[in-house]
Amino acid sequence: MASAETIPVSDALQILRRVFGYDAFRGDQEAIVEHVIGGGDAVVLMPTGGGKSLCYQVPSLVREGTGVVISPLIALMQDQVDALLAVGVRAGFLNSSQDFEQRREVEAAFVAGELDLLYLAPERLSMESTRTLLDRGKVALFAIDEAHCVSQWGHDFRPDYLGLSELHARWPDVPRIALTATATKATHAEIVSRLGLGEARQFVASFDRPNIQYRIAPKAEPKKQLLDLIRTEHPGDAGIVYCLSRNSVEKTAEFLVQNGISAVPYHAGLDSRTRARNQARFLREDGLIVVATIAFGMGIDKPDVRFVAHLDLPKSVEGYYQETGRAGRDGLPSTAWLAYGLQDVVQQRRMIQTSEGDDAHRRRLSQHLDAMLALCETVECRRVQLLNYFGQSGSPCGNCDTCLTPPESWDGTIAAQKLLSAVYRLQHERGQKFGAGQIIDILLGKQTPKVTQHRHDQLSVFGVGTELSESEWRGVVRQLLAQGLLAVEGDYGTLLLTEASGEVLGRKREVRMRREPKRERASRAAAT
Ligand code: ADP
Ligand code: ZN
Repeated sequence: MASAETIPVSDALQILRRVFGYDAFRGDQEAIVEHVIGGGDAVVLMPTGGGKSLCYQVPSLVREGTGVVISPLIALMQDQVDALLAVGVRAGFLNSSQDFEQRREVEAAFVAGELDLLYLAPERLSMESTRTLLDRGKVALFAIDEAHCVSQWGHDFRPDYLGLSELHARWPDVPRIALTATATKATHAEIVSRLGLGEARQFVASFDRPNIQYRIAPKAEPKKQLLDLIRTEHPGDAGIVYCLSRNSVEKTAEFLVQNGISAVPYHAGLDSRTRARNQARFLREDGLIVVATIAFGMGIDKPDVRFVAHLDLPKSVEGYYQETGRAGRDGLPSTAWLAYGLQDVVQQRRMIQTSEGDDAHRRRLSQHLDAMLALCETVECRRVQLLNYFGQSGSPCGNCDTCLTPPESWDGTIAAQKLLSAVYRLQHERGQKFGAGQIIDILLGKQTPKVTQHRHDQLSVFGVGTELSESEWRGVVRQLLAQGLLAVEGDYGTLLLTEASGEVLGRKREVRMRREPKRERASRAAAT
């Protein structure tokens, strides 16, 4: 549309003020809005809470026609549309939750040019009937929300997103804006190539969320640690607690309720009414905690979530960043707390080994996990490490556990040699493989029934590791796993040497390790 190019951005500013009630654009918003109003394509990488919605909502109101928003979040479309209707924006959605009559109404409004925004589930767009419908009205722009869903290797792949590459061929004059809060270089490149957005302007915001305090604690009794966190730092606050399994979601929610904390569970195994009710309560009530699997949270806009706690290790840094990013959208101080232990590493490695897909897929999952482990074991600033992961730089932040209570590092070379040689001896002298528990018992010289049964007290490494405690040895195992100096396999988490282990055993390589701060509270004391 040639005339759109001359529309001054002050129209956009007026809409921002009159319709949405905000004084000014934030960050890149103004440049993005201006670019899309002018008919340009855009790729927007902006952290959660950065304000992506306005980037397509404002242009949809300024440009002639209806802004068509493709979103995978069917469960949230009603909320999004309600919020828009409440400020007087004419919005509607089309998805599988509607009956024929409801759909027909929305379609008629669109064709009559009475909609500013139309939300569509991606599978709708692959239907010819939807395409014909779009031809009968006027489309102002296509907004592709949660654009990382097009990434086949990412953690939220939706096959229907692949079909979105056809938008441009069918409607070459309609600008497209793809948005996501997931922003590794690889995902970014995939969005650009799969959606044919090579010519689009790329807007990459800083991924720093300075108000979030990142903390990763050794996992001892995770539920109790969580309760302690809530009671001492976040009493009465809204928060999200992520667990890996449905079972632990249920148990953790029950545990909190028994301890007088208001908490509800959320996972895909609950019936849809319970899920919807718990989600609605979370959005509307003050100070409710949702204990959830990662099924919960995408697209949830609750500004005052004060903490996000992970009781299990996320599978990737992207996932961790997205999930923790749900804290503190209002910019106020918030906590991202993760409890992490050896068992997490064993469990995740096992899940990768037994996952479906080919070797390349498993390798990819392993790389994701390795990056997550590196974040857990770093002695550097967590934020710097996170930003580096997203290809951005930063300096030590003063607002993460490693900045507040710098972990000492120690020369773990001898400990590593002892542990690796125990694994080596079992394997080569006995042809046996064991998990971390047994190896540590051997190093500590414990006469357990299992040690006696296997005559492990006769190994030369029996009892050579009494200088460290059991939990310190677990730390050694974890860090060796994180550094690729040890591998784990199978249901029992048996430990194996890697190629790199040989360098340590052969005294060709030093191993630095992170010494855990004695008590997590130390970081809190420093923070206040
Ligand atoms: P995202 O989709 O990037 O996670 P949202 O679009 O949901 O972020 O916006 C996050 C919050 O910031 C919302 O509550 C929104 O109303 C608010 N917001 C966005 N842009 C502005 C602005 N320019 N001024 C004030 N608040 C804004
Ligand atoms: Zn820091």
